[in-house]
Amino acid sequence: MAQSKYLNSLEPWQDPKAQPYVSIKSLAKTFGGRVAVNEVSLSIYKGELFSLLGRSGCGKTTLLRMLAGFETPSSGKVFIDGMDMTDTPAYKRPVSMVFQSYALFPHMTVEQNIAFGLIQDGMSKSEIRDRVDAYLELVQMSGYERRKPDQLSGGERQRVALARSLVKQPKLVLLDEPLAALDKKLRERTQLELVNIQEKVGVTFIMVSHDQEEAMTMSSRIGLMNEGRILQVGAPTEIYEYPNSKYVANFIGSVNLFDGIIIEEEPDHVIVKSTSMEKNLYVSHSASVPVGAQISVAIRPEKVILTDSKPKGEYNWTSGVVKDIVYLGDVSIYHVKLRSGMIIFATVANLVRAAERPVQWEDEVFLYWKPENGIILTI
Ligand code: ATP
Repeated sequence: MAQSKYLNSLEPWQDPKAQPYVSIKSLAKTFGGRVAVNEVSLSIYKGELFSLLGRSGCGKTTLLRMLAGFETPSSGKVFIDGMDMTDTPAYKRPVSMVFQSYALFPHMTVEQNIAFGLIQDGMSKSEIRDRVDAYLELVQMSGYERRKPDQLSGGERQRVALARSLVKQPKLVLLDEPLAALDKKLRERTQLELVNIQEKVGVTFIMVSHDQEEAMTMSSRIGLMNEGRILQVGAPTEIYEYPNSKYVANFIGSVNLFDGIIIEEEPDHVIVKSTSMEKNLYVSHSASVPVGAQISVAIRPEKVILTDSKPKGEYNWTSGVVKDIVYLGDVSIYHVKLRSGMIIFATVANLVRAAERPVQWEDEVFLYWKPENGIILTI
């Protein structure tokens, strides 16, 4: 996960004095009676790389297109840098868009593609040359000036498309799944390159993605969408460690969910009885719900510790039989079936080679986790 660039200063979204750069107010879009974007309100700050993340059809592209001015909102407002842009046509917004399909002109060279918008603006030839050179260097494509798009790899084409969108020095860059056409390895490398370029130019990026790993790697914050609504907004670690619902917990990474009832509720802990486990669950933080409430306790697989000896404590452990071991190189994911039938996932680092690992299929094992690793979810 990328380190926060705001390490030495207050993150703008936590600073009550900071003014949002992009302000989306109760924005909605309906297509023929079907709601695509449902009353979305969001504040995005200067220099952020903000990702709209969600499943196909959740409304993220429609929201991005309304920011670009390609789609007219059914209701609500869009402000950019304090200016109401809701009725401003796309070409008059200080916004540039990068598409999944690059949208480069095939008959033009790299240089001509990047210079296109500057020529239209009537910039002088020498200024254009300097600007194009600077942005080619920024995206590490110097030397490729004379090539046509079909003589470039997918990653190179996307870098040219990025240079073309940055060369006019927009205030805001909107990226619609910009890396989706690249293969996995190249995509991972390009993610970091894109973050580096964004940090160098300091422009605000809003990106649409359906790939949670990509959003986690690249973003300052993520807005997780479902059915036209934003379910949670937060930094990647915040969304991962403190999801606000079962939907979010399941969408970001994998999770073990124990449905249960609160049987003790104190300011510093709650105790939960779950039919999935013989032992009760102890979570060392308060829940804003009373005794008797139906809730779920979420435990991430990497927080589950697998052992062959019986844990000592009264809470947070169980036993089961190993039904599957998914070997992923650096880690293995153990699928352990409890007596209740529930399968628990436990991620174990492969510190020894596979042949030397003691736990195997059909072994009876114990699983436990620390009280601070449970998250109470009420929805
Ligand atoms: P994907 O990841 O597949 O691009 P998305 O989250 O970006 O999905 P949108 O493209 O915003 O989703 O679409 C949201 C909903 O609105 C979908 O149900 C889609 O079918 C519908 N929709 C989008 N554009 C139109 C349109 N021009 N006319 C009618 N319905 C549309």
